[in-house]
Amino acid sequence: MKLAGVLPYARSLLQSSVEPGDIVVDATAGNGHDTLFLANLVGETGTVISCDIQAEAIRATKNRIEAAGLESRVSLFNQGHQSLNTISLFNKAPIKAAIFNLGYLPKGDKSITTNGNTTIVAIEQLLERIVPQGLIILVIYHGHPEGKVEKDEVMSYLQTIPQEEAHIASYGFINQRNAPPFVVAIEKR
Ligand code: SAM
Repeated sequence: MKLAGVLPYARSLLQSSVEPGDIVVDATAGNGHDTLFLANLVGETGTVISCDIQAEAIRATKNRIEAAGLESRVSLFNQGHQSLNTISLFNKAPIKAAIFNLGYLPKGDKSITTNGNTTIVAIEQLLERIVPQGLIILVIYHGHPEGKVEKDEVMSYLQTIPQEEAHIASYGFINQRNAPPFVVAIEKR
């Protein structure tokens, strides 16, 4: 297949905008794959602010980052992304990019999922703090009932953002079975 898969596409967007020394956000740490990916992009002088509401996810992410020897590049927070604005580094630093991999922790408790209200609050906080041309990437999973509600809420909210404030585009496969995930990319103007 010549077309990029959804996750590789999300990562290619991050790769094209994150540079060594940048400060970025992983809004849903989960098992730490995205945090590790970002930690490699920000290099020795950059920082990944990574948060999750589950202690189990923070532990898994910490282990993955330590195994790669990149702990000096990552600040972990066991708290919801809706309170990113309580993190002093988040408030002080120019934020270059952020990723949300929505849904539940793979192999974890499927009843603990992201939800539209808190995802929207976090996007609002990021839009305040992110630099012009900074990217906020959402990977939206809507194959489970809470995910469908969240997708509808988040998409409705995004459509209210004036085009003078951000470019917002989506990418996904429209003929795959079982409500495949898709990417939404928000570029602040
Ligand atoms: N990015 C992760 C990775 O690379 O392994 C996968 C993330 S997983 C699909 C979604 C995660 O979002 C879960 O670990 C869940 O605990 C977390 N989550 C749910 N609500 C949250 C919130 N309000 N703030 C931060 N994390 C949240």
